[in-house]
Amino acid sequence: MSITNDGHTVLLDLPRNYPANMLPFIRGGGLPDQFNFVQLHFHWGGDSGRGSEHLIQSKQYSGELHIVHYNSKYISFTEATKHKDGVAVLAILMESGSADNSVLQHIVGQFVDILQGGQTAKLHNPILLQDLLPANIQNFYRYDGSLTTPTCQEVVSWTVFETPIPVSEYQLRKFRQLFDKKGRRLNDNFRPIQEDRGRVITYRSGNDHQSFNQQKYSLTSSPVQQFQSWEQALDFFKHSEFNSQEFFKWQPFNRSDKLQNILEIPNWNSVVR
Ligand SMILES: [Zn+2]
Repeated sequence: MSITNDGHTVLLDLPRNYPANMLPFIRGGGLPDQFNFVQLHFHWGGDSGRGSEHLIQSKQYSGELHIVHYNSKYISFTEATKHKDGVAVLAILMESGSADNSVLQHIVGQFVDILQGGQTAKLHNPILLQDLLPANIQNFYRYDGSLTTPTCQEVVSWTVFETPIPVSEYQLRKFRQLFDKKGRRLNDNFRPIQEDRGRVITYRSGNDHQSFNQQKYSLTSSPVQQFQSWEQALDFFKHSEFNSQEFFKWQPFNRSDKLQNILEIPNWNSVVR
């Protein structure tokens, strides 16, 4: 894997000629196909009060990790971005704390090689992608949306895990010490909260005892205007009391679909060169 400061973010990716049949992939969890890994990258703020692109319960986290995949039925990521079912991103919120995240440290430890925008290096210490995931991957939000970087095509199936991963203040400072291509500090590289524009957001709970959470809410049926932002919409789902039918049409997940609702991450162990 290489690690690159492209002037907008830190990204890790595989060599261009990496055999497609060896790419790590995800499937299940409501995704329509198998999606192959293409790259991962980070968003962070100039201070720890901001940085994530998604907010849950009005909380913005200090950073967000995106693990980007493309639908394996397309020949490449570029081709996939031309199709509505082309891309799947796993979004992992980063919560600041005192302890270093030992997995992230493999990445942060190499920032010294990529301080300037445009620099790239080989990742010395391979990482297992699955080690970057939060402790609980069964609870997540799902919606169809756009790439958060220009040109923001509406081609992404987003999976936003409810549980964050920890990151230390020390590690966040290392992110903030990077430079863009013009020699400015590379900070606040997150897209502002967007209006929901009638999208459907699904919350998937892995807890059987919370089966009431396994509903599909539709924002299309009515008062889209109720929500000026993703923040409000996600907030609403967290506090939803089920007297919400008057606002939302909803339908339960088919119980027999249950297995398919588990997000499979089958061969991530294999990815590490
Ligand atoms: Zn991103």
